[in-house]
Amino acid sequence: MTVKGAALAAAAAGDFSELPIHNPSVECASRERIRAIQLAGLIEQVAWTYERVPWYRARMDEQGVSPADIRTLEDVRKLPFTDKSVLRDTFPYGLFAVSLDEVVELHASSGTTGKPIVVGYNAHDMDLWADCIMRLVQMAGVVPGDRAQMAFGYGMFTGGFGLHYGLQKLGCMMIPAGSGNTERHIAMIEDYGTTVLVATPSYALHMCEVGEQMGFDWKASTLRVGLFGGEPCPPGLKAEIEGRMHIVCTDNYGLTEVMGPGVSGECLASRDMQHIAEDHFLWEVVDPDTGEPVPDGEEGELVLTPLGKQAIPVLRYRTHDLTRVTCEPCACGRTHARMRKVRSRSDDMLIIRGTNVFPSQVEDVLAGIEGVAPHYRIVVDTARGLDRMTVHAELKPEAFSDSFQQMEALRRLVEERLKGVLLVGARVKLVEPGGIERTTGKARHVEDRRKPSA
Ligand SMILES: [Zn+2]
Repeated sequence: MTVKGAALAAAAAGDFSELPIHNPSVECASRERIRAIQLAGLIEQVAWTYERVPWYRARMDEQGVSPADIRTLEDVRKLPFTDKSVLRDTFPYGLFAVSLDEVVELHASSGTTGKPIVVGYNAHDMDLWADCIMRLVQMAGVVPGDRAQMAFGYGMFTGGFGLHYGLQKLGCMMIPAGSGNTERHIAMIEDYGTTVLVATPSYALHMCEVGEQMGFDWKASTLRVGLFGGEPCPPGLKAEIEGRMHIVCTDNYGLTEVMGPGVSGECLASRDMQHIAEDHFLWEVVDPDTGEPVPDGEEGELVLTPLGKQAIPVLRYRTHDLTRVTCEPCACGRTHARMRKVRSRSDDMLIIRGTNVFPSQVEDVLAGIEGVAPHYRIVVDTARGLDRMTVHAELKPEAFSDSFQQMEALRRLVEERLKGVLLVGARVKLVEPGGIERTTGKARHVEDRRKPSA
């Protein structure tokens, strides 16, 4: 692969000094200073939340903890956890801590059932968000003047606008192409001299293939950096895209409930890890079953408390993402803790082409269709670079028929209903009665065959 630009070439040779660090006084601070910033942020955040959000005040009163009890970082453990259901139950504005007149942007993500998760931002939150994005894009070598083409959809999803605002604030030319029409995307790279591509890794791979079919010369193109997000990026997939597109790719981590993209980002010195923006997020790693902290450096569920976020100040948000965190110094010069990239979750959620899919959603749909048994299996693999989901659904004996038309009509009905709920297409295969393997204990509903190739 060809690395384009002197700074990226130096980084590829192990010299990271030419890559800019956005806010070195914070990003390269001593552990002691980082902890002091976090503690001041936590004390303020808990007071802000307690005073303004009745839901948290009630929980904290129940647990007998008040803002005055937060004196050390470890005191965060006295606070209640927050999970997705709280945001759903308080839909749409129940957790807001500021007047709606002050809210300048609203985003949402799909929940497991029914209502979406809604989050709001005031002007202060938008600045904080842009700060996080400016950091992580510079870790990948993006500089003011870069031309960044967005291949995420815009809309309620946080990924598109989150990256857009941060890149623009850094001084990049934004090319808001949005999702879809791959040939057009490739033509735009050529026409506009795009240097940075923002995409899901699976879509980037798809672009790569379409470009090759079109005879597009990736090596000679202006594109030099890929910023990935929206779904986990296995190292093998990243390496393949880097090699075929002749670009450097990093990915970042975030979730709507605590902000959106920008919680952590990959630097070029530590490719399997992501630096957490520790002044903006207090992290904990807990045992997913007990909620107790795991020993330093061991794997557990990531729990996040945003610091300084005003419109929706969630405390101890349980991400269900499994990771481990190290505070060892990094060769890039940053001192902020690094989390290992998330590959698995403590619940069964799947990410299909950037969309969250829960097996429970599939179960609910199947339960609502006459003739379909409550036995199913979800298989996820990749086809032509894109995620593909296949739902194997078992028929009840009375619904099993020799009539092809009848079976095909039922199969299509299941596909249609699934698409309506999941918002992402799934193939359906009907299985004869008894055809889905029964297991004792927890049924294995999901088989994820998307494996890193390296
Ligand atoms: Zn680093």
